[in-house]
Formats: sequence, structure tokens, C-alpha cells
Amino acid sequence: MKTDVLIVGAGFSGSVVARQLAERGYDVLVIDKRDHIGGNAYDRTDAHGVLIHPYGPHIFHTNGARIAEYLSQFTEWRDYEHRVLAKVGEKLVPIPINIDTVNELYGLDLNEDTIQAFYDSVREPRENIRTSEDVVVNAVGQDLYEKFFRGYTRKQWGLDPSQLASSVAARIPTRTNRDDRYFTDTFQKMPAEGYTKMFERMLDHPNIRVETGVDFFEMREKVQSDHIVYTGPVDAFYAYCYGRLPYRSLRFEHQHLPDTEQYQSVGTVNFPNDYDFTRVTEFKHLTGQKHSGTSLVREFPQAEGDPYYPVPRPENEVLFKRYEALAQQEKGVTFVGRLAQYRYYNMDQCVGAALKASEYVLEKLGDSDSD
Ligand code: FAD
Repeated sequence: MKTDVLIVGAGFSGSVVARQLAERGYDVLVIDKRDHIGGNAYDRTDAHGVLIHPYGPHIFHTNGARIAEYLSQFTEWRDYEHRVLAKVGEKLVPIPINIDTVNELYGLDLNEDTIQAFYDSVREPRENIRTSEDVVVNAVGQDLYEKFFRGYTRKQWGLDPSQLASSVAARIPTRTNRDDRYFTDTFQKMPAEGYTKMFERMLDHPNIRVETGVDFFEMREKVQSDHIVYTGPVDAFYAYCYGRLPYRSLRFEHQHLPDTEQYQSVGTVNFPNDYDFTRVTEFKHLTGQKHSGTSLVREFPQAEGDPYYPVPRPENEVLFKRYEALAQQEKGVTFVGRLAQYRYYNMDQCVGAALKASEYVLEKLGDSDSD
């Protein structure tokens, strides 16, 4: 079998590169070991006709106008701003922590003028911010840390926040206003017909061939290509020669409730302190679908299983750097994406990295027009 470029993985990273190269006239073969395209952002209707995200809730948000514009070639959008409540004791309160969270938890009546003084009165300043515990305790003190972060992080990562890089907690801000949106990006929308439809259009090009249910490691000898774009786990590419990079996995428990218009008042409810699952998401909030029943997913973090999250710890970064050094020596292979770059990328960041990688691949292919 012959193709100009073989792309391993049909998620955001692989699909964007495929489209870019196809538009420049290159023949592209995209393979994925799963039986569908879309990677972890894949969505489909369940047995009851509700659109679900089998690999957990995916909410699109970006500050990158170029990225939103790029994807808009392949989808219309529906407005959606994600909101999350956390169950703390018997209360359901907004997360990220904002004025209402504090007022509801402590029976206070703070406002935008007085909230910072409250945070200042409870925070425990730390000189060196190295870990996720440092970030949170430094910002909001021990009680809020324990109510919202400690248990959740332990469940999510199997590690105490004191063992995780500061970047993890830094993703969740503390607010001094009443904004209860989970994200504050300028562009917050969901693909109107879902992610899979968007991927279908992206990959629908005469120069692109897609084969699902195909594992790269079982077919690499059978394909001749000028270049390979690899979006799977980088350690797997090198047969784990330096040992395994830790990825956190999840077990998803999906549930359909017939004759239930709505199960919860927001898209996601977090459970920082109770149960083995971290959160419950009700898909109809995200998709805007009208249906007499509703479908939910509960996420149970675990060490084994499909790799979902790179684990941000200094020693993992050191191990990744060893693999990255090998990857950088490859002339005929480009590594891109969440698993290949071992980066906690959101979807928009994957698109950005893939657009950049496409330019690099074009250069490697000797495409003189690439900048
Ligand atoms: P993937 O989507 O993982 O695609 C890689 C593909 O490569 C996979 O389909 C895999 O099957 C394939 N592959 C791997 N090895 C091989 C092989 N040997 N042979 C053939 N194929 C192979 N981001 C957001 O922006 N917003 C969110 O709300 C959000 N929520 C998330 C929730 C969860 C539970 C998770 C896990 C992630 C979430 N993300 C979210 C992140 C988002 O999923 C990723 O940024 C994005 O999907 C990564 O795209 P990718 O193409 O790099 O990787």
C-alpha cells in the first residue's frame, strides 16, 4: 500500500493535519485503531436516541479566533456556556468558587467589594508555588481547599494535590465576581450537529482515505509513505523503551432515564467528597437536544485503561523529555497531539498544534509554498 502521508489517529490532531495536507494535494491515509473517527471527542446517539459523548463530556471553548474560524468550515455552532455545581455537604454550589459559592457555604452576604478581603482572611500565603496544593491554599486557604479540591484531585489523579504540578489547579480560577460559567473564553459553542458530523466533513476530501479498526503497530510494515504523522501515545511508539509514561484513565458509566425531561439543573455536577465517581454530566444541557428521556455519564477515574490524561508531575516530564529527544531525531515522523506530545491539551489547543504541525510536515515534504 502506498500513500504520501500516513496519519495515525483520527482525533482532532490527526484530522486537522489530514485536511491541511489533502488541501495541498497530498494523498493521505488516516487510520485509527478504534472503530470510529473523532478520537475522544467522538459523539453518537445512544440506544434511546440521545446524543452522548462516549468518552466523557466535551465542551468547546477557545480564545483563538483563528481556531474557531478554521473549525467553522466544517460545522455550524450552537451557543452553550457550561455551568458546573459542586456537591458540598448538602449544598450544591457554583464551581469555580465565586461570591455566591462563599455566601452559600458560610451564610455570608459578601459582594464584589468585600470578597477579596474574605479570601485574604482565609488564604495561607505560600512563598514557593510548586504544587496544586500550594496554588489553592495560597489563594483560598485550607477549608475551601478541602471542600472542593483535595478529595476531587485524589479521585481524579490518584494523587494528593501536593504531588501534582501547580498547572493542574491553576486551570480552575477563584473568582471575585458572580460569574458562574465554567469557562470565560470568548468563543463558547458546541458543534450544532455534534462532533462526529464535524469530523466527517473535515475528513471528506478526495485526497483523504480513512480506515478505522486498524492498529498502526500491526500494519506499519505494509504501508509505504513519505511521512508519518503520529498522534498516539509517544511511549507506545518506542515500545516503552524507557518505561511507561503515566496516563490517567477513566471508566464511564452511562445511564438513560426514560420519561425524565431533566435530571440536574446544570450540565455537570461535581462530587469532590462523596462516591467513587468525580462528576455526573447530563448531555442534553450540552447539546440542546429535546427528548422525553435523558442520558447521563458518571466518570470513575482509574490507573488502567485507555490513556486519557497525561499526569503533570516533574518526574513524568523528565521521562517525556527522553522520549521527545528520540522523537526529534525522526526525519520521517511528526508527533502531534495530547498523547504524542504528552500535554494536557484542550481541543482548541490540539487544533492549534495540528495547524502548526501541518506547516512543519509540508516543509518536510518539500512543499515550497509552506511558510
Ligand atoms: P485523541 O482524541 O486521543 O485521538 C488520538 C487517536 O489516536 C485515538 O482515536 C486513538 O484511538 C488513536 N490511536 C492511538 N494509538 C493508535 C495506534 N497504535 N493505531 C491507530 N490509532 C491509534 N477538551 C476540551 O477542549 N473541552 C472539554 O470539555 C474536554 N473534555 C474532556 C473530557 C475528557 C474525559 C477527556 C479525556 C478529554 C477532554 N478534553 C476536552 C480533551 C480532548 O479530548 C483532547 O484535547 C482531544 O480530543 C485530543 O485530540 P487528539 O487527536 O490529540 O487525541
